[in-house]
Amino acid sequence: MTAVSSLRPEPRPEILDIDIYVPGRSRVEGVAKVHKLSSNESPLGPSPKAIDAYRARADDLAAYPDGSARVLREAIARRFGLEPDRILCGNGSDEILALLAHVFLRPGDEGVYSAHGFLAYPIAIRAAGATAVVAPETDRTANVDALLGKVGPRTKIVYLANPNNPTGTYLPYAEIRRLHAALPADCLLVLDAAYAEYVTRNDYAAGLELAASCENVVMTRTFSKIHGLASLRIGWSYGPRRVADAINRVRSPFNLSGPAIAAGAASLDDAAHLEAAVAHNDRWLPWLSASIGALGIEPTPSVANFVLLTFGRNGVGTASEADAFLSARGYILRAMSAYGLPQSLRLTVGSAEANRGVVEALAEFVERSRS
Ligand SMILES: *Cc1c(COP(=O)(O)O)cnc(C)c1O
Repeated sequence: MTAVSSLRPEPRPEILDIDIYVPGRSRVEGVAKVHKLSSNESPLGPSPKAIDAYRARADDLAAYPDGSARVLREAIARRFGLEPDRILCGNGSDEILALLAHVFLRPGDEGVYSAHGFLAYPIAIRAAGATAVVAPETDRTANVDALLGKVGPRTKIVYLANPNNPTGTYLPYAEIRRLHAALPADCLLVLDAAYAEYVTRNDYAAGLELAASCENVVMTRTFSKIHGLASLRIGWSYGPRRVADAINRVRSPFNLSGPAIAAGAASLDDAAHLEAAVAHNDRWLPWLSASIGALGIEPTPSVANFVLLTFGRNGVGTASEADAFLSARGYILRAMSAYGLPQSLRLTVGSAEANRGVVEALAEFVERSRS
């Protein structure tokens, strides 16, 4: 009999230090009808054109998709005036965010992100064997000087969501340019513009101009949010040809499905649907922030399709009490402890019915916690 070996395959230790990403809940035990306001999805859903294009691919599922997603890259290039071979498509922009870390970081390198930045960044940085370095924020807003203060000779990537999830705050483009101008030339600046379409401020830009003209800037975008196609997993990026070339060597060769390529391209043809989504947000985001603020729950000023709510002040109960109270009534928000914001919940702008309902439920919650 051979002795039982204690040897077994071991993941790299830094992998086991990574906290698992917990997605927004979509169900509540014992509650039949829920409004999922936890993942910043579009209450308008996808364009009918995208749904038609998706369905039309149902007869063609046996063949591999076009691994270069040419139709989608060309549609994006036409829409934004870009060079198609500098566009990368990903299985969600999450895939691109992760691949950038894998390709540009090595053990010993550092990746910088801001305190309440998107959790995909530290996961990607650590998974690449590098060190995740956090820069403090000011008023829940990224701070360029604080970010630059964390950049050193080993910093090879800086991730910045603009606007940021989960805070909803943004940096004016002048600040982005100031950040870029002070970064070392060998440090990649990743501008994650997942919510760009929702922003209606004159001093905002997603970052295309920098991504088009600089060797060290990549801008990422997604079809998961305003396009209402989160389930299909479609993201893209624009940046230097060298970046696209490197990523193309290691990405999975068929990372987008055929239906996703077709639906994404069709969605770009429906400008009216996108405008309707912006108009819906412009109507309801200020209404939600004002109504909830009036209850004594603090909304962080947001330019995206969600708002961060802070509890525990003005005699209002805690965030976790509010979460339980709302869940029992079918309103699912996103708990924020993983983002270092244990007294906050993130609320996605939903349908008219969901928005009115969640404000009513919050009013009831506040009344009960004060009595
Ligand atoms: C939702 C989101 C994304 C998009 O992720 P996909 O993988 O494209 O669905 C990227 N960045 C931020 C900050 C987000 O909130």
